[in-house]
Amino acid sequence: MAKHIFVTGGVTSSLGKGIIAASLAKLLQSRGLKVTIQKLDPYINVDPGTLNPYEHGECYVTEDGAETDLDLGHYERFLNTPTSQANNVTTGKIYQTVIEKERAGAYLGKTVQVIPHITDEIKRRVTLVEKGHNFDIVITEIGGTVGDIESLPYLEALRQLRREVGKENCVVIHLTLIPYLKAAKELKTKPTQHSVKELLQAGIQPDILVCRTEYPLPKDLREKLSLFCNVDEKSVIEAIDAKTIYDVPLLMLKEKLDKTVLKKLNIKNTTEPDLQTWKEFLGKLKNPTKEVTIGLVGKYNELQDAYKSIYESFIHAGAVNECRVKVIPIHSETLEKGDIAPKLKNIDGILVAPGFGERGIAGKLEAIRYVRENNIPFFGICLGMQCAVVEFCKNVLGLTNANSTEVDPETKDPVIDLMPEQKKITSKGGTMRLGAYRCKLIKNSISYKAYGKSDISERHRHRYEFNNAYLDQIEAAGLMATGKNIESGLVEVIELRDHPFFLGVQYHPELKSTVENPHPLFVSFIEAALQNK
Ligand code: GLN
Repeated sequence: MAKHIFVTGGVTSSLGKGIIAASLAKLLQSRGLKVTIQKLDPYINVDPGTLNPYEHGECYVTEDGAETDLDLGHYERFLNTPTSQANNVTTGKIYQTVIEKERAGAYLGKTVQVIPHITDEIKRRVTLVEKGHNFDIVITEIGGTVGDIESLPYLEALRQLRREVGKENCVVIHLTLIPYLKAAKELKTKPTQHSVKELLQAGIQPDILVCRTEYPLPKDLREKLSLFCNVDEKSVIEAIDAKTIYDVPLLMLKEKLDKTVLKKLNIKNTTEPDLQTWKEFLGKLKNPTKEVTIGLVGKYNELQDAYKSIYESFIHAGAVNECRVKVIPIHSETLEKGDIAPKLKNIDGILVAPGFGERGIAGKLEAIRYVRENNIPFFGICLGMQCAVVEFCKNVLGLTNANSTEVDPETKDPVIDLMPEQKKITSKGGTMRLGAYRCKLIKNSISYKAYGKSDISERHRHRYEFNNAYLDQIEAAGLMATGKNIESGLVEVIELRDHPFFLGVQYHPELKSTVENPHPLFVSFIEAALQNK
């Protein structure tokens, strides 16, 4: 059986539990251990697929088509191993299972209660992720902040699990904030003391404190935290604000978080951490020799988290090219009126983002027209690709009414449309085309050159598709379908002939870019933007 590490959070949200969990996992992996990470989300949605990006940031899709929390993206980017359905548990999923069992009569005669039925189901899910994998360690991040009503059943399940498997098989790390009071010129430990008390009330004594701080933690403060929170001094770990999230594994290494955990879990004989590739990546990331400016045209630009994986993919692709990628968010609605040229001045390439609904479409079409006509590198993802098709049909083919039926259900020219099987679906949760599908690329296309092969597999999350009834006309005018799903014939990749770099993909390449495997399309897009500079 795998050993367990739980990561809880205290004092405030947004302390970076996901990054701490991923960094620790990276260190343990680099010592030769087989590790996975999962996230427990206390909200009642079955998955975040039905949430607006403003609510919860990007929805991250796994190979097997689960719509999950964006922290799973960090897990994959750090560990370079795929996650799955089992790596994201929500209160919605827990209750759905328990209620379905109740209706089926599984608890006949019994009152169904939070303890033991909900907590049993949480424990079952927590260990489910191990099935068939022989992991040495499973790291589980509990979403939310200790003290929230919603996370109580998770803490109770953790208390029970720890009692069952023993402390040497289950370690609890509590991530907390040590605020700095400017007026007093002091770091303060009291909020952490309170937060640990809150955990104690749930019957959990944390083994390790990871302390987010703007300033280094002095020795006396570590001693104080150790005394008041009842952890040994070596288990008070400083997590100082970092320039990039990719520094955190090395910061945690310096603080010996991995060693402390291994000691508590009684795991011996691991190798020393091998972080060679990681350090090379950091070296390139921090010493760029050139710079490009990319415009990210989207409508959720107020919130960087809405495009998390795209931003991270640019960081990976930039490092490969030893190039700093400056991403300028451009709100598509601002491109709808007036002259577009001054707004896109000094931009070396444009990425048009994924999205849903009608708002902001007109601005995306304007941006695409501009880059198409001015030979500026263009990369369209999902809705961005669909917009490129619509723009081309309107302005090159002269089909002035061309549209996606998502935007105009009555359009005379539905160049992007629902497939018959999607038309029947009315329910919204988990009903898009989701997860990995194979695609075949045409030799000598931009995409083929980028991947260096023609058989690829990429992840999807969309309802609407390129309408093949228009394919011949579109190709005859120069927009080529260079990648297709062989089984269904669905168009996956489009490229413009006679343009230095005009590429649209129906899938989401950003979901597969990792530190060790930067995505080839992002790498090529940055190369093209550099050439355009
Ligand atoms: N709204 C579009 C569709 O459902 C695109 C989705 C996306 O960009 N992820 O097909």
